[in-house]
Amino acid sequence: MKVNKKLVDEGLKQSDLIPQTVCGVCGETLEEFGDFDRDLDIRFSRCPGCGVVTYNKVATQEYLDHMYSNYNDAYDWYNPGENESVTFAQPDRIARHIFKYIKKHLADKTEFKIMDFGGGSGVMGYKLAKVLILNGICDKVTVTVVDYLDALYRTDDPAVYMERVFPVHDVETIDYDVIIASAIIEHLPKPSDEMKALFDRMAVDGFLYCRMPYAYPMFTLAKKIGVDFDMLYPGHIWDFPPEWFENVIKFVSDPDHVSLVVSQPSIPETTLNSHFIRALVTRMFKAPWYVFHKWPFVGGWEAIYRRI
Ligand SMILES: [Zn+2]
Repeated sequence: MKVNKKLVDEGLKQSDLIPQTVCGVCGETLEEFGDFDRDLDIRFSRCPGCGVVTYNKVATQEYLDHMYSNYNDAYDWYNPGENESVTFAQPDRIARHIFKYIKKHLADKTEFKIMDFGGGSGVMGYKLAKVLILNGICDKVTVTVVDYLDALYRTDDPAVYMERVFPVHDVETIDYDVIIASAIIEHLPKPSDEMKALFDRMAVDGFLYCRMPYAYPMFTLAKKIGVDFDMLYPGHIWDFPPEWFENVIKFVSDPDHVSLVVSQPSIPETTLNSHFIRALVTRMFKAPWYVFHKWPFVGGWEAIYRRI
């Protein structure tokens, strides 16, 4: 089993890798448990504290910077050229999906604040703003996009004000009604700092939506039947089993003031209209979870937290 072949072809080598021994979420010492790539001597590690799965070696920041600036095809969430550049087909679909889970808790307000963390242009935040307005929840929305890319979604919609701030520690507002962190935390070398900042900036009765990869079980299943499964290493540093979403609260926030509203397999990234085969396979793998609930082959996980 190899790391992302394209990246190896482009020259990922031993000198681009540095050891990782401590969990970037909770600080516990990691425990190695299985081979990921024998040629580069990369092994999987698991954190006994929070349960996150990772690797005993990660790419250097220099390599990651080089990779993200050169491989926009493979890592298109970093592509500033596309106004709607996100890793998700039809961002209005995820906006409606989030709204479905939070709407019964939302109080009518004149103005809402949304933070789109790591969302590229912020199109997902914009689409959620439109869903809130169209459903009569509020009249105006400010969308704060936290991303190092300077590629803000272009709109002349008078009801939605888009702004960009980077990094998250420069975000001064502390009362966001909804924070979106979709497919971004897995890229952060030390996600505890950013996770703490996201929980800190949730308003009372505000929400945090997180979507992460939970791909390790798929990797082991594929390995058993001799099929390659791309963990998107070294871009994806962390893999998040379901128990992590409960565990993380005590490491980055106050468990007495945060509740877990939803924790479940993530909404599929692709639609049957856009990528039929991939979308169908994704749905077939996720489906048994809804019957058995212990089914691990779902590929990704999502959670919604609420500050109480
Ligand atoms: Zn940990």
